[in-house]
Amino acid sequence: MIVHRLTVLLLVVILFGAPLFAQNQSSAKPKPKVVVIGVNGMEWDILRPLLVQGKLPNLAKVIKNGTYGKLQTVSAPNCPRVYSTIFTSTKPEEHGVTGFIVGGITANTNMLKEEPIWSYLSKNGVTVGMANVPATFPVMPVNGYMISGMLTRGKNCEDGVLCAPKLSEVEGGDPVYPAAMKAELLKNVGDFYIDCERMPSAEQLRGHESEVIDAWLARVNLIREQQTKLFDYLLTQHPTDFTWVVQSCEDRTGHWLYPIAPYNAGYNPKISGVRPDAFPSQYVAFDSVLGSVLKHVDENTYLFIISDHGIKPLREFEETDPHAHMDHEKTTPVIAKHDFADGDDVPGSFIAMGPGIKHDLRLMGFEASVYDITPTILHIYGIEQPKQMRGHVLSEIFESASDKVAMQK
Ligand SMILES: [Zn+2]
Repeated sequence: MIVHRLTVLLLVVILFGAPLFAQNQSSAKPKPKVVVIGVNGMEWDILRPLLVQGKLPNLAKVIKNGTYGKLQTVSAPNCPRVYSTIFTSTKPEEHGVTGFIVGGITANTNMLKEEPIWSYLSKNGVTVGMANVPATFPVMPVNGYMISGMLTRGKNCEDGVLCAPKLSEVEGGDPVYPAAMKAELLKNVGDFYIDCERMPSAEQLRGHESEVIDAWLARVNLIREQQTKLFDYLLTQHPTDFTWVVQSCEDRTGHWLYPIAPYNAGYNPKISGVRPDAFPSQYVAFDSVLGSVLKHVDENTYLFIISDHGIKPLREFEETDPHAHMDHEKTTPVIAKHDFADGDDVPGSFIAMGPGIKHDLRLMGFEASVYDITPTILHIYGIEQPKQMRGHVLSEIFESASDKVAMQK
């Protein structure tokens, strides 16, 4: 009910309020430009050695020119649970999207009980573009466009959980807002996969390990190429004040191809020994995607690179935990996971660069949390933090109170 009311309100604002707002602002400076890139499950343990080896030149550049550190996440983190927390800066029990499945139904935007960031931005005349952000299916109206991501349902992916329908195969809801944009994307970008590929089952792998692993990784490469093309198209043809794009193949690769050692839980030489570089290679590939996005990021653009959680090898002692190894598993032999009861064991990543953001500053401990992302972005646009939001504006990442981003704590 709450969401329906919000949707109606938002529509009214977009249809009638936004032009008035724009007129009032016509003499003011243009709105800040913010680009957020989400990398699901981005893990510092894997990133750090790659950075030292110089294999992530674009990410290294952003880190050098920005502020970076761990991003504290929620307990038992998984994508829909954390992303909805990021959207709303409220607890999972408050916003309602507590996991992949809620009350027997795949998590979807109709379950969202708190107002999300795209609604606040749209109401305030900020143009919004979002692509492949998890848990945004069915898409909601915004002052711009929205293309759904993880948990989109479709052909061969009826439950929407960790599978990949193509844009033309989506069923049970709209994957694109405005709806007319779907035909434009099919024509100019192609029929892209809207999320990452489903992981193979133990049965599919048995006896064909190398072949199945290589075929799966080839599909992941294809999906990343399609996403790169999509993001570049959107940033070029549909520039918005606020843009949020997300990649999700990194996390999925980590779950079953994490480079573990023979003494780790779940090690199977037939699988774990085939492509030990598969997971680190995902970040090298991501670095190229970042390079493509950076072409659209000038010195006046704020860039945030965030992950909802990290990912770590399984632990023997959690084998007795009834909730152990629940995420993504289905029938895949997973060797790494992130839904540990204590979210501090699998922190996400936070990297920010932009006007007035401190250079080469490492945040120690948990100075930044998934709850702080939305308040900080709203703040950049001069929008006061709504009362229900539990995070705070990350004022510590900005140079001084005199920056155009006012301080508020
Ligand atoms: Zn995962």
